[in-house]
Parts: sequence; C-alpha cells; structure tokens
Amino acid sequence: MNRPPLPKAADVVIVGAGISGLACARRLVEKGRDTLVVDSADAVGGRIRTDEVDGFLLDRGFQVLLTAYEEFQKQFDPTDLDLKRFTPGSVVWTGGSLEVLGDPFRTPASALASARARVGSIDDKLRVARLRRQLLSSPAEAAFEGTDRSTLDELRSEGFSDDFIDTFFRPFMGGVFLERALETSARLFRYYFRCFAEGDAAVPARGMQRLPEQLAQPLQDRVLLNTTVRDVKSGRVTLDDGSEIQTNDIVLATDAQSAAHLRRSIAPDFKVTVTSYFAAPEAPISAAMLVLDGEGSGPANHVAVMSNVSVAYAPEGQHLIAVSGVDAAADDPDGFPADARSQLERWFGPAVDGWEHLKTYHIPHALPKHPVGFAASRAPRRDEPGIWVTGDYTDFGAIQGALRSGRTTADAILEAKQLESP
Ligand SMILES: Cc1cc2nc3c(=O)[nH]c(=O)nc-3n(C[C@H](O)[C@H](O)[C@H](O)COP(=O)(O)OP(=O)(O)OC[C@H]3O[C@@H](n4cnc5c(N)ncnc54)[C@H](O)[C@@H]3O)c2cc1C
Repeated sequence: MNRPPLPKAADVVIVGAGISGLACARRLVEKGRDTLVVDSADAVGGRIRTDEVDGFLLDRGFQVLLTAYEEFQKQFDPTDLDLKRFTPGSVVWTGGSLEVLGDPFRTPASALASARARVGSIDDKLRVARLRRQLLSSPAEAAFEGTDRSTLDELRSEGFSDDFIDTFFRPFMGGVFLERALETSARLFRYYFRCFAEGDAAVPARGMQRLPEQLAQPLQDRVLLNTTVRDVKSGRVTLDDGSEIQTNDIVLATDAQSAAHLRRSIAPDFKVTVTSYFAAPEAPISAAMLVLDGEGSGPANHVAVMSNVSVAYAPEGQHLIAVSGVDAAADDPDGFPADARSQLERWFGPAVDGWEHLKTYHIPHALPKHPVGFAASRAPRRDEPGIWVTGDYTDFGAIQGALRSGRTTADAILEAKQLESP
C-alpha cells in the first residue's frame, strides 16, 4: 500500500472522503484551518464512484445531479465538469406502449405529445402545472417547513388520480426515493419536485466521480486514502494499524453504518437499490430521457441510455444502458439482470436479447429512509466536545443533503472556535 507519511497531528481530522467530508474539508481549508481527511477507500467519492470497464463508464449505481441543488451551485465550478443534461420529462411504459411525457414548460415542442400521452388525464397534467407554479413561488428550503405527511397522501390531497400516481409518480419518485410505496416525507417530494421544475438532471461528461474529484482537487495531499479509522476519542483518532493522530476536532463524515460502529450507536434504516449495465450496438430509444415502469411489473423501475446523455459513457459505436431496481426487486442482484432483460423485451423488442451484460451493482445502503416528520433537525451535530457527525443521513440522503451537512458542520466548527478564542 502506497501511503504518504502520516502526520502526527492536525487541527481537524475528517473521517470520510465522500462529498460531505470533502465539502467540510474545503470550507475549513478555505478558512485556513489545518485539516486532514482520511478514507479507507482507494479513491475519493464514497457512494459516488465511477468505474471504467472496457471503455464504458459505470457509475456505482445509477445516479444524477440536480443542477438546482443550492449547494451544488455554491460549491462547484460547472464548466470544469462539462455537464450533460437529461431532456426534461420521461418516457413511460404503460403496459402496452411507451408514452413520452415531456415537460412543456422546459421544452415547449413536447407540449402536444405530452397532452396526448396516455398517462394521466388532462386534469392531472394541469395539476402538475399548478403544483409546479406553487412550489417555484417559494424558496427551496420552504419545502421543509410546515406539517408533514407521506408523499402518497400529499399527491392524493393535491387531487392527482390514482392512475397518474401509479403510472407516473410511483416509478418517477420511486427512482428518486428508491421506494415506490411513496412513504417518504412529502417535504422531500416538494423539495425534489421544485428542483426538477427549476433545473436539470445531469451527469458530468465523464462520470459522477468527477464531482468528488473536483471537490478534492484543492485538498491534494491533505487527503489520505487507504487509511481506515478504528477508533475515535475526543482529541485522538486511532487507525487500523494502531497509529494515532492528535487533533482538536474530529468530523465523522462516514456512512451511517460506520459512524454507528465508531460511536457504538444505532444506524438509521437505509434503502437498497440495484443497477445493471448493458452494452448494445443500438440504443433502444434515441432520447436522453429516463424510461419508467408505469406498469409496475418490475423488476426494473427506471432505465437510462447513458450514452444518449453523454457519449463518453460508451466507446464509439456502442451504447450503455443503465437498468435500475428498487424495493424487493433490488434484493436479488443475481437474478436481476436476466429478469430485467425479459421485462425490457416487452418495452423495446427482441433486440434486448442481444444486449451484453457488463456489470451489476448492488447497493444495500444507498439512501437513508426519511419517513414522515424526518426533517426535525438538519443542524450540525456535535456528539461530544471535539467530535462532530456529518453525512447525508444527518441532513437528507442526496448530493444536496451531503454537501449541506459538510459545509454547515465546517461553519459550526469555525464558529465554536471563534467563541472559544479570547
Ligand atoms: C445508487 C445510489 C444512487 C443515488 N442517487 C442519487 C441521485 O440521483 N441524486 C442525489 O442527489 N443523490 C443520490 N444518491 C445519494 C448520494 O450519492 C449520497 O447522499 C452521497 O454521496 C453521500 O455522501 P456522504 O459523504 O454523506 O457519504 P459517503 O459517500 O457514504 O462517504 C462516506 C465515506 O466514509 C468512508 N469511511 C467509512 N468508514 C470509514 C472508516 N472507518 N475509516 C475511514 N473511512 C471510512 C467511506 O469509505 C466513504 O468514502 C445516491 C446514492 C446511491 C448509492
């Protein structure tokens, strides 16, 4: 293992080089704090990694960036990422046909096709327009205020038909929440729906891992990889090999399970997902749009032709298709690729039989569960003097939540230091 020499002390030690730890480190370093980040993995990114396999770029589980995330806008330089955007809207498999449900506000040319699409009634489509207007009239953070209920209850009380909820909202929000029952807090539904109305879903041209890499760039040798933390005590971090780093502040920016292990506490519940990648000489659709299982048969819930979004995801002359499942469908990663292939033959025809299975990623702890009432506290968490806990699950399970938790924790550390100084 090739590791640079370990410093004996640092003002702040951050455990975890996922985007929450990196966001925290960047803020502290900007403010001149001596900061060290350690991570057991061989690269930065945590749950946002991209593998290169035979010239294909495979994100470790399909995921997208929403350009409307406020923390993305604050913390990143988009030009350097060369973002490639999905076309707003979706294609929905209704059980008999693929219907294009465009976003007439963002792509007016899709208005007629969307009005005609056999997904939901005209009334449902007008309700989408009204909800969108209403959410855009308030700042994004307003979504987290007020009383809460489940997303399903929210949609019903907004007057959406059961048919539209089943064919559109279950697969669409199911892909975002990684659960189709729509039990997730309506606060998150409102937040995401507003993001989709305001901005785009996108990926960096060369894979999602470019996001953490950009965050890590100014940190350089302040990030130690292949370095596992075994124990934390106020003032001291102990590594796997027994060596120690003395420090004033420790930030546990690990995943929730590792933090619970290190703090001897209980981790919150998480949701599972699976993504199988397939290579094909022809793309099954030409649009850079998400294709949704509006029929609800599964096991695939959402499909994306990644090479339609960014050509760099596949070698020349090839296409890359990401097929993802949620809920129980994600519990059988071995059976998933074959079962999904049979399902998708009905959507796209016999060409699916010729797709080459490249790799399947099973992620048992993909996103924390956020049931009704979850956003009670999204404030920086200090467990005891000098030990802070951050990460998406302390805010909400998404790139925005992870970045916000890291930045606000850094601000809280800086503020606490100011209060302590004479
Ligand atoms: C499949 C999938 C799809 C997703 N889809 C989306 C999406 O479309 N849009 C969106 O906004 N978000 C999405 N997310 C969520 C988003 O990726 C996460 O919220 C975010 O990456 C979490 O970052 P984090 O820094 O909080 O934690 P993590 O990324 O989990 O980072 C924790 C780090 O801690 C390290 N670590 C753990 N224990 C130790 C130890 N003892 N010593 C040293 N290091 C340790 C780990 O190696 C890891 O690098 C998705 C996530 C997954 C997995």
